Amino acid sequence: MARSDMTDDELAAWKARKDAGRARAYEAEVKTATLLRDHPEAIDGFRVFCARMGGFYSIRNCMRIYGQNPNVAHVQPRRFWGGYGFNREVTDPNAAIWIVAPKVERTFTKEVKNERTGQTEEVEDSYKVWPIEDIYPSAATAPKGGPCVFCNGPEGEPCPDSCPVRQPQSGPPPTREDVAEAVADVLKKLGGFDASVLTTLGPDPMRDGYGDPYETPGVRWGTISVTTGATNRSGKPRKRSYRFLHTVDLDRPGVRYAIAGLGVIWISPYELRNDTGNGHAAVTIQYGDDVPAADRHWDSRFHKEGPHAPVLNGITFAGTSLVYPHEERWRWFSPNRAGYGEVTEGAAEKMGQILRQLLPHYRGLVEFDAIEEAGFRKRAARRAREADHEAKRLAEREQELAEQRADAEQRAADHRHQAANPNEL
Ligand SMILES: [Zn+2]
Repeated sequence: MARSDMTDDELAAWKARKDAGRARAYEAEVKTATLLRDHPEAIDGFRVFCARMGGFYSIRNCMRIYGQNPNVAHVQPRRFWGGYGFNREVTDPNAAIWIVAPKVERTFTKEVKNERTGQTEEVEDSYKVWPIEDIYPSAATAPKGGPCVFCNGPEGEPCPDSCPVRQPQSGPPPTREDVAEAVADVLKKLGGFDASVLTTLGPDPMRDGYGDPYETPGVRWGTISVTTGATNRSGKPRKRSYRFLHTVDLDRPGVRYAIAGLGVIWISPYELRNDTGNGHAAVTIQYGDDVPAADRHWDSRFHKEGPHAPVLNGITFAGTSLVYPHEERWRWFSPNRAGYGEVTEGAAEKMGQILRQLLPHYRGLVEFDAIEEAGFRKRAARRAREADHEAKRLAEREQELAEQRADAEQRAADHRHQAANPNEL
């Protein structure tokens, strides 16, 4: 609800909630800063906590988050859980953690009287606000509109701990000096912080031999952005974001892209291609996970959708497409829909946008060479089976011909004998 649509009571309740949130955020940052001042040996651990937030929150906000819920693994604003990318709903509003959002600067025009000329002029002015914002741990969210594409957990229920959504993210830790500065800022009027204590901490475990910042291991979310065709108020095309994770499967071989709010897309080397692997070759796109054998249809024109089949514009994709990453064949790109026929042009166009973002990711994977190699091995094994079959067929034919030849030679010998010995007739 827009604030302007609220009744006075609703507005008062909204304001009271925000004020309580601001008080909690402040209390939490003081608590964390005090803890770090009194136990500077905890600073490195706190840096890991910050890194695991994915590099998304400032150090001060990480102090606020830690002070309110030190066990939290993955937090996002409500709009990020919702339509923005994860396709989840917040199921426990009481789990809110309060932070201060990045400063927002608003500009406006005001009229002032110019003392020198005596005339009224319009001048630009601005003010800054630090809005208070509630964010939610993944444990307080559940997949909506279908099972979780990452762990297959049911709609409406929080995912288990093992789901990637519940895991910490990969990210760069802040330096000890940056943390010390933030602690000093928070404690400015509460006794301050003596940063010289950092010299007692010993070598920094979060620097590699080159002095480059280190990244904590964790989940690394990818983002796909799709232009929806509609425009927003300023006339710019509207975009929708999808968060995704990938898994490499060298047995298949292929890469499974699990995309929140969309479904699963597999990219694999095209099995029947006959090039020598210059890297520009065709790939097979499969919409959804494998269709169970029992669900396959006898009619090859009918496409049964697999589990987590992608849905765009309300249309479910099914089956596979062949795509040439470096060729402009997108005009002929027309994937099949679940059932009979192809998806609409609009749905195909959006899928094309998605694939053109996934393909560079696929081809940039460190495992790409291994996937290609596994693809070649699989194709070679298939070609070997085909050649074996052909050799067997030719051996049978050879046997037949040898028998026919022996017969003919026998006949030739018989006739030569008759020609030489007419008396024997
Ligand atoms: Zn899940």
